[in-house]
Amino acid sequence: MLRLIFLGPPGAGKGTQAERLSAIYHTPKISTGDLLRAEVKAQTPLGRQAKVYMDAGELVPDEVLIGMVRGQLQQSPEQGWILDGFPRTLAQAEALEELLQELRQDYDHVLNLEVPDEVVVARLLARGKEQGRSDDADEAVILKRLQVYRQQTAPLIDFYEAKGRLRRINGNQPMEVVQQHLQALLESCRRTA
Ligand code: AMP
Repeated sequence: MLRLIFLGPPGAGKGTQAERLSAIYHTPKISTGDLLRAEVKAQTPLGRQAKVYMDAGELVPDEVLIGMVRGQLQQSPEQGWILDGFPRTLAQAEALEELLQELRQDYDHVLNLEVPDEVVVARLLARGKEQGRSDDADEAVILKRLQVYRQQTAPLIDFYEAKGRLRRINGNQPMEVVQQHLQALLESCRRTA
């Protein structure tokens, strides 16, 4: 059973790689961005509240996300999970540690996809055009998301490094190559486990 956390700036390829590993290892992917977009689309009260933050490139409040992830992790604990887009703040990371203790679960690795800023901006602009994502269409919003990443999410690298759980992966390579590196890492850890 696999339990993984993906870290990295927006556009690093977390969603793509989480999706691929999810299919290969038959492990559910929990993408908080996808869950929020579904709420926005369904025009639920939560969706309406979240949209304001998402369109501005800001983070949706921690309590909303923590409640959402709690529900997801409880759903089918025996299948494991791949977290994509959560945690994104220190408060979320700390809440996740508590939640996992409570549920008697633990994660295997934190996978940090490293990609330079200029590559991220180019990728997000391209994705905005292809997928019509409102938060990827506007360069000002993209830059805001990067700033929010640096201020609120990047500190998680030190948080997990201090726990000895961080794995760094060069995300500035073709998707297939990144995927091969991730699989090689997971397999080698499995063999030595
Ligand atoms: P993503 O698809 O992961 O890039 O997420 C899109 C947007 O959803 C983000 O820019 C945030 O506004 C919101 N979001 C997703 N995950 C989180 C999270 N863990 N904490 C706060 N906001 C989030």
